[in-house]
Amino acid sequence: MEEKIIFEYKSEGRPSIKFPDNNFNYKSPEELLDKSLICNEACGDFPELSEPEVVRHFIRLSERNYNVDANFYPLGSCTMKYNPKVNEQVSRFPGFTDIHPYQDEEDIQGILELLYQLGEYLKDLSGLPGVTLQPAAGAHGELTGLFLMKAYFNEHDPKRNVILIPDSAHGTNPASAKTAGFETIQIKSNPAGNTDPEQLKKYIDDRFAGIMLTIPNTLGLFDRHILDVSKIVHDAGGFLYMDGANMNALMGKVIPADLGVDVMHFNLHKTFSTPHGGGGPGGGPITVSSALEKYLPVPVITRRKDKYSLDYDRPSSIGKVKEFYGNIGVCVKAYSYFKALGSSGLKKVTEFAVLNANYIRKSLEDIFKTAYPRICMHECVLTNENQEQYGIKTLNIAKRLLDYGIHAPTVYFPLIVHEAIMIEPTETESKEALDNFIEIMKKIAEESKSAPEIVLNAPHKMFRKKLDEVTAARNPILKWRKE
Ligand SMILES: *Cc1c(COP(=O)(O)O)cnc(C)c1O
Repeated sequence: MEEKIIFEYKSEGRPSIKFPDNNFNYKSPEELLDKSLICNEACGDFPELSEPEVVRHFIRLSERNYNVDANFYPLGSCTMKYNPKVNEQVSRFPGFTDIHPYQDEEDIQGILELLYQLGEYLKDLSGLPGVTLQPAAGAHGELTGLFLMKAYFNEHDPKRNVILIPDSAHGTNPASAKTAGFETIQIKSNPAGNTDPEQLKKYIDDRFAGIMLTIPNTLGLFDRHILDVSKIVHDAGGFLYMDGANMNALMGKVIPADLGVDVMHFNLHKTFSTPHGGGGPGGGPITVSSALEKYLPVPVITRRKDKYSLDYDRPSSIGKVKEFYGNIGVCVKAYSYFKALGSSGLKKVTEFAVLNANYIRKSLEDIFKTAYPRICMHECVLTNENQEQYGIKTLNIAKRLLDYGIHAPTVYFPLIVHEAIMIEPTETESKEALDNFIEIMKKIAEESKSAPEIVLNAPHKMFRKKLDEVTAARNPILKWRKE
């Protein structure tokens, strides 16, 4: 059923809220309010609908929303896993929601302890000694980490201004490096999807400041040369920045500092129990090596005996990157998630995430060609190569999945894989859910052969059929206007 824009429902004179008649000695709005605050027709053309009509309109819209609580959501690179509701509940405890950031340190010892402890957990996971929880998202964490590197080189060797970024990187990496004032150079991945140490050496000169690597990389592959790469980077006086968005593949298994990582961000809204996809709020804490620690944003939360304080007295600090101390609600959820799982639980998360991705890869590899035929980490990349002969594009496969009630995986990313289909099942999916997805993918492969027009013209069962994605991206209409 078509749902109209709320302004298009016509029901003049049917407001949701009525002020009581004056016969109980109530004061009317006109008597209570300053005249200048009372709006008349000149204020606009608001829809006039009864309360149940408003409720139904928004409920109907919300039911169109596909979400991770409704079904399988295998969006690669996004870690769309189930977020336990208990953590949501904990973050809404009045002790957390009713405090104010301007309150005296003495009064907010509880939340300071929680934030300090969360910082300690993140340090433990990364093996790095410094932390800030301020950045509000992954990209913001990248920017903060790069600001720290910039501050370091401004002090030690200002001509170092070049950041190397592999061609498989997430688009935020080069954007953050440029925003932080660096020059970026793209380096090519080798045929196995890794950074080639020999290739890397060619790009290094006395202007080299560092490299940004996603570990495991955005192809879902662990870089076999990572130790060689980090040695080359450090021998050349640069920093190794790790994009930690894929931390779901490493927790408790690999300590980034052991790989030579100097600075990294976490995406609390991917790995640590904050729902995402709706635009925030998120959390992008970073942990850093001792060389970068003194530049961390202020305030740093410190502990002396059992008292926690906000340390603003840090002369080398880059200053603030966000008001106050970070998105606290998101931090509370992450803390609660850490507490609920413990270190052995986090390790299991990683084991199941990797197992599930490989189960899908292996189950489908005879039907959909894999981009890199080797063991993957928490996500796998397929292609349409076997289906191309029937005229089927990756986009068609993605759209056909919608007819079967499954959210499409990430498609056409990473850009270096032709017609990529990137699947990240996450650890929270059962074997039954994975088998169901695999069955559906097999059906689509079969349809591609026997009745390709069904796949080509998908989706058939969606509320909206195939959209003109180019026009939607180039000329979006974001505002409804009255004819
Ligand atoms: C999600 C993601 C980012 C960006 O994180 P945001 O929180 O969306 O800003 C960066 N790199 C990789 C690999 C990602 O998957």
